[in-house]
Amino acid sequence: MIQKVLDEALEYAKVHLKEGHVADYIPELAKVDPDKIGVSIVTTDGKHYCAGDWDQTFTAQSIAKTISFILAMQTAGAKKVFDHVGVEPTGDPFNSILKLELKDGKPLNPMINAGAIAVVSCIEGDDPIGQFLALARRLCRRDTIEIDQAVYRSEKATGMRNRALAYFMQSEGLIEQNVEEVLDIYFQICSLSVTTQDLATCGMILANDGVDPFTGERLVDNSILRVIKSLMVTCGLYDGSGEFAVRVGLPTKSGVGGGMMSAVEGKMGIGVFSPRLDEKGNSVCSYHMLEYISNHLKLHYFSSHN
Ligand code: GLN
Repeated sequence: MIQKVLDEALEYAKVHLKEGHVADYIPELAKVDPDKIGVSIVTTDGKHYCAGDWDQTFTAQSIAKTISFILAMQTAGAKKVFDHVGVEPTGDPFNSILKLELKDGKPLNPMINAGAIAVVSCIEGDDPIGQFLALARRLCRRDTIEIDQAVYRSEKATGMRNRALAYFMQSEGLIEQNVEEVLDIYFQICSLSVTTQDLATCGMILANDGVDPFTGERLVDNSILRVIKSLMVTCGLYDGSGEFAVRVGLPTKSGVGGGMMSAVEGKMGIGVFSPRLDEKGNSVCSYHMLEYISNHLKLHYFSSHN
């Protein structure tokens, strides 16, 4: 049943394969093959289903903001994190600076760029990238996950918008550290190189109350999961989150690399990928695949199961 729905979802979405544009504001991202499309599901009882280019690597981009948020909560605690960021949707694009000035430099949520940069500045302990990679590898259950160095260097060289956001937050006293060092961590986090199976596995562990079902090990506490999954519902697709909630109805995070990660409570994680993006920076075909899967497996959080 699940495999059939994945195969159909891929065909259904492929009709839209040429719609949208690859993110080229990070020059290295423009080099990907725009016609790639893939999907994976990993269930909480450990089964893996896949279709298309499911094992193609791409950069997680904003999807990695979920993992860096978990790390900040684990190392610094909720008090410090929420002194630096809120939990309200913005209704604005992911890289918007607009509301920062209205809110004394405090970003509205951790899923937009300003919020994720503020969250990264909260991570405590030595070697934040080492800690981040270790957590990502456990959540995705793959020891070989790395940072894509070419994409990292490309964004570091061109990420002036993110620099503007970070320096503005520093001018308001929200970021105390060296801004370039904080941004360096942020750019590396965004450049996490993943497959749809990695995202499906991570989504599955989030959906499984933070426990890796293969080892029985708890990787994330419920108090943190409640926050991150709620934020995925309300802010995961930036200013497209409301429409996505209506059409798909799954806690999901998107990234400009073309991926999306969903956590279907108690059941499964879903990873989808296709590089061309809509005007809000969300992958056109990833969106269509998730909509098809949600409808046909009756996964929408308010679906009728009759
Ligand atoms: N690295 C990207 C940026 O900072 C992440 C944005 C995204 O995926 N929406 O612009």
